[in-house]
Amino acid sequence: MEDRLHDVLVVGGGPAGSSCAYWLAEAGWDVALVERKVFPRVKTCGDGLTPRSVRQLADMGIEGSLTGAHRYSGLRAHAYGKVLDLPWPEHPSFPSYGYVITRHDLDAIVNERAVKAGATVWQGTEAVEPLVEPGSPDAGVPGPSGATAPRLPSCVGAIVKEKATGTTREVRARYVVVADGANSRFGRALGTSRDRAMPMGMALRGYYSSPGHDQTFIESHLDIRDGEGSVVPGYGWIFPMGDGRVNVGVGLLSTDRRWKGVNTSTLMEHFVAWAPKEWELSAETCLGAPTGGKLPMGLAVGPRLGDTTLVVGDAAGSINPFNGEGIAYGYETGRLAAASLGEALRGDGIEGLARYAERLDDAYGLYYRVARAFVRIISRPELMKLCVGTGMYSESLMSWILRIMANLLRPDEIGPAEAAYRAIAAIAALVPEHESQGYRLLTA
Ligand SMILES: Cc1cc2nc3c(=O)[nH]c(=O)nc-3n(C[C@H](O)[C@H](O)[C@H](O)COP(=O)(O)OP(=O)(O)OC[C@H]3O[C@@H](n4cnc5c(N)ncnc54)[C@H](O)[C@@H]3O)c2cc1C
Repeated sequence: MEDRLHDVLVVGGGPAGSSCAYWLAEAGWDVALVERKVFPRVKTCGDGLTPRSVRQLADMGIEGSLTGAHRYSGLRAHAYGKVLDLPWPEHPSFPSYGYVITRHDLDAIVNERAVKAGATVWQGTEAVEPLVEPGSPDAGVPGPSGATAPRLPSCVGAIVKEKATGTTREVRARYVVVADGANSRFGRALGTSRDRAMPMGMALRGYYSSPGHDQTFIESHLDIRDGEGSVVPGYGWIFPMGDGRVNVGVGLLSTDRRWKGVNTSTLMEHFVAWAPKEWELSAETCLGAPTGGKLPMGLAVGPRLGDTTLVVGDAAGSINPFNGEGIAYGYETGRLAAASLGEALRGDGIEGLARYAERLDDAYGLYYRVARAFVRIISRPELMKLCVGTGMYSESLMSWILRIMANLLRPDEIGPAEAAYRAIAAIAALVPEHESQGYRLLTA
């Protein structure tokens, strides 16, 4: 562990941090990454990669490394007694398939790719405290660049602790990227917080052995019933892993009025009992106690920008509220941050860095606004039943909805999904959301 001044320090080696480190190293910058765990490590997840994730992996040159992954071709949607098979659409930029792969395997592959590109990675090393430039303003004070939104203080590195030896030391860098995931202790120490009026997800998942392990469609259940047949709040999924197992999970949104009363373990029990019998889910086929986590979504966490600091992935709340997908958005926000850091390092300084906010806004601003509106609607059980119940009668309608929800709209043609989305987006752009904390749309 030598202690030169690095161009960039990345805190966290999940999808967001490793992608950011890869793109920076690939561009020739001196990037150091600290990851508190040692790869390969287990991470609670549904393990589902959509075509958006596959595109990012292909761009990093590692789709060929997914040898143990199960390739699948679409989504089987179950709701209100109806079942629809919805293949991933043809798209000019994204493949029409996805993979299911454990994060144990996936995250090690991507982190290794960053190392091969030239990133310095210290595993088993936790960033325990940010180093903040003396005299730097507290979070929330507008920065000198004329931006009016709250900004982060100037972080110039971290005190890191090597877990095996307990030794601590300083790592210094010109810029710091916060990629420490949903709990984001490092980000919160710098002053980030979640806008509690915006939606948040909670999910639980476990593995089961199943004869359906090699199915070529992943499955989602938009209604779950209890033993009496009454609908309970939440949704469920079954993702075939191709290795004898399926990943089974349940999720819930904070905007659901019944959120506080729900125990996710009980929800999981209901779902396992309710799931189609051919999966053979039961206490006997369960391979271990389920584990859960939070899904910060819709860019609900900020500030995401300071004079020397950017926040990416779950630490920025970048999960897609439409479908709870966060891996692709980790890769993408890491990549957008790397592009902005490159411009800052080439001489544009804070102006270059600030382009991260513009890039986020271009990529997700309006889409996430529409998604947040959608979440508010489906959180009302009667509206959820009306929308989904109606949609399930039409395969073509549900195919368009899948395209919108997976963010796979075509830029090159206006099909029904694109037209419907544009109409909804035009309305969403006009409707004010609740009182903003200032960082939501514009600047991170
Ligand atoms: C139950 C569940 C199911 C999900 N299913 C899916 C799914 O099927 N598909 C999908 O796309 N998304 C899914 N998600 C969301 C997805 O897991 C996240 O969006 C994604 O992991 C975000 O990547 P990240 O790099 O931002 O954070 P993380 O993957 O959490 O990575 C952060 C990394 O930072 C490290 N770290 C934390 N603090 C420090 C520190 N101080 N110093 C050093 N290192 C640190 C951690 O060890 C970790 O490796 C699911 C989430 C949950 C909870």
